[in-house]
Amino acid sequence: MIVRREIAGWGRWPRVYCAEAVPDRPDAAAAALAALPSAIPRGLGRSYGDAALNAAGVISSRKLNRMIRFDAASGLLEAEAGVSLAEIIAAFLPRGFFPAVTPGTRFVTIGGAIAADVHGKNHHGEGSFADHVAWFDLLCPDGEVRRCSAQSNAELFRATPGAMGLTGMIVTAAVRLRPVETGWITQRTIVAPDLDAAISAFEANLDATYSVAWIDCLASGAARGRSLVYLGEHATPGDLPPERRGRPFETPPKTSRRVPFDAPGFALNRFSVGLFNRAYFRAGARKADPQLVDWATYFYPLDAILDWNRIYGPRGFAQYQCALPLATARDGLGDLLDAIAASGLGSFLAVLKRFGPGAADRPMSFPIEGYTLALDFPLRPASLRLMDRLDAITRAAGGRLYLAKDSRMTSETLRAGYGPALDTFRALRDAQGTPPRMRSAQSARLGL
Ligand SMILES: Cc1cc2nc3c(=O)[nH]c(=O)nc-3n(C[C@H](O)[C@H](O)[C@H](O)COP(=O)(O)OP(=O)(O)OC[C@H]3O[C@@H](n4cnc5c(N)ncnc54)[C@H](O)[C@@H]3O)c2cc1C
Repeated sequence: MIVRREIAGWGRWPRVYCAEAVPDRPDAAAAALAALPSAIPRGLGRSYGDAALNAAGVISSRKLNRMIRFDAASGLLEAEAGVSLAEIIAAFLPRGFFPAVTPGTRFVTIGGAIAADVHGKNHHGEGSFADHVAWFDLLCPDGEVRRCSAQSNAELFRATPGAMGLTGMIVTAAVRLRPVETGWITQRTIVAPDLDAAISAFEANLDATYSVAWIDCLASGAARGRSLVYLGEHATPGDLPPERRGRPFETPPKTSRRVPFDAPGFALNRFSVGLFNRAYFRAGARKADPQLVDWATYFYPLDAILDWNRIYGPRGFAQYQCALPLATARDGLGDLLDAIAASGLGSFLAVLKRFGPGAADRPMSFPIEGYTLALDFPLRPASLRLMDRLDAITRAAGGRLYLAKDSRMTSETLRAGYGPALDTFRALRDAQGTPPRMRSAQSARLGL
């Protein structure tokens, strides 16, 4: 059955009335694709913009949610594409396994994680999500389901991660989980008084399993880029207090809160964001070090507040996430922070991560070796103008933007960032048929 309803990404803008099918088996997904004039797959809608929107057809994976098989020796889990990381953790952490790569929310599906080739705080060591995928079954635009792996349909296997659903709908996948001994992370915090110190901290700790920095993006002058750099390691039972060693996977129960209403637009201003950033920095700098942190608090602090996207008010918000190459990152990040501080449009969330080498054979995969900065801005004319300025800085630094966060970049900015890889990708799209049957509001905007 196909139902029309208004949907949006996590940023709540744009909103589009879409014809949505919710198949419960792979063959029903093929039937839905045949019945729709064009379509885009959709997981849990945690991409921020218009990547999972198409007025003519959206095929949701939320009922493709069965786990099929698990091999504890290799950690390989075979599951339908609508299974979420939250469900995987609930089922497998008690057995000593955790996703090898996870984004900052566990409410994403396997299909969405492959389609965006998501990264975590361990990209410098473990690469991105697709580095841990053995194979997937792809419902292609011609209605055929193809098994894609390094050995079979290898071109589709490489082109699909990062392609945001445009090569077809993943219906089943085999994903490798990593063994862990506890549900806890040993976290160290480095207080970096400025951007140079933050970058030096990342570079000096490339052997840390996880690293991420929260940046006070309103600090300027000598304090520009001051940050709390968090390093993390999976704790062993010996790291836990004696009373927890017998129950290493048991962590305190979490009560999730909801944001009960849309915050008024004026709630976020230079004053409130500045106050928050200063208080967060001081509180973080005072915390005991090292700290034992449970997995949910460490990996998913934002998941504790369901619907936190409502704090940006009814007009929604955009996340700006760019990646800058290693050679230009220091200057480029400085320029981005200068532009943000000068605008006064600070962000509650400004997160910096170190990327290891990107996947050269996956044309649409976002990570490139260097640094990635992610910032949230409420949608207003002034923040849209600021993001245009940030685009110019990113382009000048040879950087690129992340399609999973994007709702507003131009096709020129996409071309500048992804270069000739885009031609490789477009050739594959053309080979799948023109006009393409897999389409999204984002692909229409970007001419993808
Ligand atoms: C709080 C928060 C923190 C985040 N942190 C990070 C982070 O640290 N790192 C990171 O990389 N990302 C991060 N993200 C982004 C998120 O991981 C990605 O957008 C991810 O793709 C969302 O998965 P989803 O299941 O919600 O997919 P959706 O948002 O529903 O879809 C995303 C894309 O995947 C495609 N897609 C979905 N399912 C399928 C399928 N079965 N087959 C083919 N294509 C499919 C869609 O067409 C769309 O283009 C974060 C998002 C939020 C809200």
